[in-house]
Amino acid sequence: MSARIVLLGPPGAGKGTQAARLAGELGVEAISTGDIFRANIKGGTELGRLAQEYTAKGELVPDSVTNAMVKDKLVSMVGEEPNHLGFILDGYPRNTAQVAELDAILEEIGVTLDGAVEITADPEVVIERLLKRADIEGRADDTEPVIRHRLGVYAEQTAPVSGVYRDRERLVQVDGIGDVEDVTARLIKSLEQFG
Ligand code: AMP
Repeated sequence: MSARIVLLGPPGAGKGTQAARLAGELGVEAISTGDIFRANIKGGTELGRLAQEYTAKGELVPDSVTNAMVKDKLVSMVGEEPNHLGFILDGYPRNTAQVAELDAILEEIGVTLDGAVEITADPEVVIERLLKRADIEGRADDTEPVIRHRLGVYAEQTAPVSGVYRDRERLVQVDGIGDVEDVTARLIKSLEQFG
C-alpha cells in the first residue's frame, strides 16, 4: 500500500511547498497540475500555448485538457501492482467535474484514494503571501487583480470539492498558518485519520 492523497486549499495556502515536503516524507510523487502547465508554457509546447491563455487570467484551464493530462500522468505511473502507486495531487481536482473524472481514472487503473487533505488559511493572509511570492518567483499570475480573481474562482469552483470529500467522510482539514515544518507535521498527523 502507498499514500494516495489529494491536497486542497486556496491559492497561497502553501499547497506546493507542502506537497513536495509530504511527498519526500512519504516516498511518493507530488503531481502539481500548475507546475506541469508552467513547464509546458516555458517549453513553448502546444499544451503550454493553450494553458497560458487561461493561467494568465487566473481562469481554470478547460477540464478536457486538464483531465487528459492527469490521466496520462497517472496511467504512466501505475505499474504491475496498482496498490504500490502513491501520489499527492496538488491543484487537482479543482471543480466537482474533475472529482468525477479522477474517480473514473482511479477506478480504471484499479486504485482507491486515501482521501483529501485541505490546508486552510485566511484569505487576507494568502493575498499577502502571494504578493510576497510575486516578488520572489515572478509568477505571471501573482499580480493583485489576478490573485483576487483566482481566489474568486477558488471560492466558486474549487471550495465545493472539499464538500464532496467531506460527504464521503474522506476529508481532513489542517491549519496552514505557522512554520513550514509545523504545518508538515500537522499534515502527516492528519493522515492517520484515513486509517
Ligand atoms: P497553481 O499552481 O495550482 O496555482 O495553478 C496555476 C494555474 O494553473 C491555475 O490558476 C489554473 O489556471 C491552472 N490550473 C492548475 N491546476 C488546474 C486544474 N486542476 N484545472 C484547471 N486549471 C488548472
